[in-house]
Amino acid sequence: MARFQWNAYSESLRNQGRTGTGCGGIALEVGVKKAVVLLSGGLDSSTVLAIARNQGFACHALTVAYGQRHLVELEAAARVAAHLGAAEHRVVRVDLGTFGGSSLTADIPVPLDRSHDHMTDIPSTYVPARNTVFLSLALAWAETLGCFDLFAGMNAIDYSGYPDCRPEFLRAFEQTANLATKAGVEGLGRFRVHAPLLRLDKAEIVRLAVSMGVDLALTHSCYAPRPDGRSCGRCDSCQLRLKGFREAGHNDPLPYSP
Ligand SMILES: [Zn+2]
Repeated sequence: MARFQWNAYSESLRNQGRTGTGCGGIALEVGVKKAVVLLSGGLDSSTVLAIARNQGFACHALTVAYGQRHLVELEAAARVAAHLGAAEHRVVRVDLGTFGGSSLTADIPVPLDRSHDHMTDIPSTYVPARNTVFLSLALAWAETLGCFDLFAGMNAIDYSGYPDCRPEFLRAFEQTANLATKAGVEGLGRFRVHAPLLRLDKAEIVRLAVSMGVDLALTHSCYAPRPDGRSCGRCDSCQLRLKGFREAGHNDPLPYSP
């Protein structure tokens, strides 16, 4: 397993004798700044968790069980949270399958073998209002924790054309967060949505993850995994991931079964 690079963060805390207890044997500073990190268990959100940790945040990782058919990603999220030393990891169940309307939550085929050039059309894997729901849940937890930093893995370069991955949506959500919460109205702080991958392509994300020592074998990206959990290699998510590894000059450690 690759070793996550902590920069000098954990070491400096140990030297200062300012350590508390944390999960996964990682020391956390008492009173350290907290963040809520949306963690799906995929390449992007795992990289974002590593970035937030490297920026010194005690990360409260949030995974949403939204009725996705690829439940294997929930196991990946738990593995990644432990690997990257999240302060805690919670899974919230909000079954968007109640509404359906997406090939990720309803009995609609996941599109396979779409060419990258056509990924600007919004595909059936779009889950209605998913990122709005996810960010709202992250906001609710952040306000409860008394923190103002939300991290999410949205990406506006190599993505499937989802409207809720665009920067204008994220800025609008920040505004909503500050209008909608007691903490925001009372001026205790300003909520901020960090989307550090927004302007990176998949190859840059892979390089960044590798440079930080994120064990990408623990992650899962496929929308249509085989019954044994292997990735299909053909859905948008697999194709974008594989393209990223190829262009970054790294081998994807995941097993594929097209
Ligand atoms: Zn796939």
